[in-house]
Amino acid sequence: MSEAARFGLRLGVVLLAAVAAMTDAHAEWVTRVTDGIMGTRITVELWSDDEPKAQRAIDAVLDEMRHIDESMSTYKPTSEVSQVNAHAADGPMHISKELFDLLTTAREYSVLTDGAFDITYASVGYLYDFRKRVRPTEAAIDAALPAINYEHVVLDPVNQTVRFSQKGVRIDLGGIAKGYAVDQGIDVLKSFGITRAYVSAGGDSRIIGDRFGHPWIVGVRDPRKGPGEALLRIPLVDAAISTSGDYERFFDEGGVRYHHIIDPHTGHSASKVRSATVIAPTATRTDGLSKTAFVLGPDKAMEIYNRIEDVDAVIVKLDGTVVYSKGMRHASPADATPPAAEPAAKNP
Ligand code: ADP
Ligand code: MG
Repeated sequence: MSEAARFGLRLGVVLLAAVAAMTDAHAEWVTRVTDGIMGTRITVELWSDDEPKAQRAIDAVLDEMRHIDESMSTYKPTSEVSQVNAHAADGPMHISKELFDLLTTAREYSVLTDGAFDITYASVGYLYDFRKRVRPTEAAIDAALPAINYEHVVLDPVNQTVRFSQKGVRIDLGGIAKGYAVDQGIDVLKSFGITRAYVSAGGDSRIIGDRFGHPWIVGVRDPRKGPGEALLRIPLVDAAISTSGDYERFFDEGGVRYHHIIDPHTGHSASKVRSATVIAPTATRTDGLSKTAFVLGPDKAMEIYNRIEDVDAVIVKLDGTVVYSKGMRHASPADATPPAAEPAAKNP
């Protein structure tokens, strides 16, 4: 979420905390921001009338996210995913139910997005290092490209095994694990009886409940302005939202932007939009769908988003114009009218 969005949320927190203080001296909004899990910033914010319990609930959310990071990070050689990458081309490997289920879900998103979402992007993706401005040569991409195809990941639900159908295949759950972790975090909070909360991991967020008659306001960053500049603010209750942008993890070279979303068909950065924001009931879903627009372009991606009943989307095209999914246009027939931005801005 952008700085402006965070500011917007924080302003809301302050105002609501003030209102709450007048009505109930013991209940309050409790917030914790933690860096360094899954390589990103985790924010948890919740309403609680029991501060120690709220802190225990947040501890439990972060423990769950650390566990997901330990088992799914490709940066950790000991992780289950790293083990799969090392051995699954040799034959079927028994894996945890959690990983098996997420691989099954990832496959569903590959099918839903015509292969735009594909965890085997990593077969080429691992050759990039965006921090160090490293990118593969065309020859290296060509050599590795045949290993990208989600069909190479063979899942056997009876034996709970995974196998790669050829050598050179690598998977990376960086495009879905944060959304999954947010959903798991929300489940943890629900198990503590929390009914109003916000959990985010980098670009993936989910909200339960409202803010006492008002929606939560989540900002979408302007892709060509600083992190503090919100393009629009979206009011949300009981929903997840993910934004993917070409301004996260990138470097520019020779007038070309190399960034972290890879087109599975070419092995190059997928650059058909500047950003895509997806809204849906769960963050696994919004994370799994937010990369699609980069690969398929705004028209085809919007067609897919509009086809899925519980999904809405906002896409910032390459020329900077903004398009909205059908569900966000009810208030106005004009594509370019930001939905509910005005009422949202007036809310606390
Ligand atoms: P964030 O990591 O901030 O949540 P995104 O949700 O946009 O950002 O996910 C980007 C990540 O998705 C990349 O860093 C990479 O790990 C992964 N990825 C890149 N290309 C693809 C792709 N075509 N399909 C699935 N995952 C991808
Ligand atoms: Mg994400």
